[in-house]
Amino acid sequence: VAKSRGMNTWHWYEQERRPATQDEIILRHDLRLAMERNELELHYQPVIDAVSGSWRGVEALVRWHHPQRGMISPGVFIPLAEQTGQIIEVGRWVLRRACEDGMQRWREGHRVVPVAVNISTLQFRRRNFVEEVRAILAETGLPGHLLELEVTEGVLMENAQETIELMKQLRELGVTVSIDDFGTGYSSLRYLRDLPASKVKLDISFIRDILTNPDNMAIVQGIITMAHHMQLKVVAEGVETEAQRDDLIARGCDLLQGFLFSRALPVAELASLPTRFPDRS
Ligand code: C2E
Ligand code: MG
Ligand code: MG
Ligand code: MG
Repeated sequence: VAKSRGMNTWHWYEQERRPATQDEIILRHDLRLAMERNELELHYQPVIDAVSGSWRGVEALVRWHHPQRGMISPGVFIPLAEQTGQIIEVGRWVLRRACEDGMQRWREGHRVVPVAVNISTLQFRRRNFVEEVRAILAETGLPGHLLELEVTEGVLMENAQETIELMKQLRELGVTVSIDDFGTGYSSLRYLRDLPASKVKLDISFIRDILTNPDNMAIVQGIITMAHHMQLKVVAEGVETEAQRDDLIARGCDLLQGFLFSRALPVAELASLPTRFPDRS
């Protein structure tokens, strides 16, 4: 199951098994070339401490500069890569590049904050995933505590016990795990209680109309209260307005991410952002 960003719809690729469109076949082929031609790039979006406004991390978000079509959104090509299995190769590239960039920034001495990397369920559940992470950390030199992995609730659905074990092994490397797009999946709250995760990221769809939709307001408040009870930090994604920010702060949200602060930027442009975003006015 993959959710395509921005459309707010669910595509049941597994169940559906519709034949790929001509366009998808071409894109898959192009994606294979994209790796060789260096067309993928990582951008980074800061994650801000809700109260102090200082940086607490950056999230790596992959971009594809297609030679003919221009920029293709990860919301389009990641689900495609998940269908074909290309996500394994793409994901490995992303993880390595994010660690290299993180190490580079660390060496240069600016804003030493963890880098968060999105990991597809397929990638996370591969037999040697922890070994892969260990190897990439060793090769790039990035300390494990400067790496965070973002997985969706999908990883919890198949085998919770195995997932818990995986997360423990990652923890031994210093690597923490966040649950992305929280509240959109089907996982039981019981899993959340048992998971050695460190953060939940509220899905953008809750934030978008948090001020006008009482249901979303209640969901957000409920998730924050519950997460804090379980010693988990809460990140709100998609914060675009000061009103949203203020509401989230009032509800006890710990970390904020969104266009209000910055879009995802090429690594070289991060240095031009303020080290601290203004406090509540
Ligand atoms: P996500 O991990 O939940 O990332 C958040 C998405 O929200 C990003 O979209 C980000 O640019 C966007 N966003 C952040 N702030 C705002 C805001 O204030 N307003 C709005 N409207 N959007 C905001 P992006 O970069 O297009 O990525 C979409 C999704 O693609 C990601 O959702 C993630 O699920 C997936 N993705 C991106 N990069 C990777 C990757 O390297 N590996 C994997 N497996 N998935 C990735
Ligand atoms: Mg994410
Ligand atoms: Mg998300
Ligand atoms: Mg997502």
